Amino acid sequence: MTKDELKKFETLLLAKKRELLKEMGIIGETHKATIKESTGDLSHYSYHMADQGTDNMEREMAFAFASKSGRLIYHIDEALRRIADGTYGKCQKCGKAIQRARLTAVPHARLCIQCKSAEEEQKSGSEQ
Ligand SMILES: [Zn+2]
Repeated sequence: MTKDELKKFETLLLAKKRELLKEMGIIGETHKATIKESTGDLSHYSYHMADQGTDNMEREMAFAFASKSGRLIYHIDEALRRIADGTYGKCQKCGKAIQRARLTAVPHARLCIQCKSAEEEQKSGSEQ
């Protein structure tokens, strides 16, 4: 994969991460500009966060990251780490290059489509 391509996927990943953090209300309460932009509609979350101590905030974060979006952010961070260490775009199971079309659709993908479907087959098999 070329540097330009890596850069493209990195941008995709960062944009996705930002979107998720915003959705979860993690970005926003610390950036006044963002709160203003949201047409003066201060969510209760913003007030809430401002009034709480660090302990509560940490608990809120832990809760947020236990959600589906939180797990996705984890996978996005892992993908960003792989970009940094040069292993991005390789299947973590068979070591082959992950298809570009798949990476474009799912930039945080860690398995190629073959390994992914094999994994899903295994999962659904064990559940029955
Ligand atoms: Zn594979």
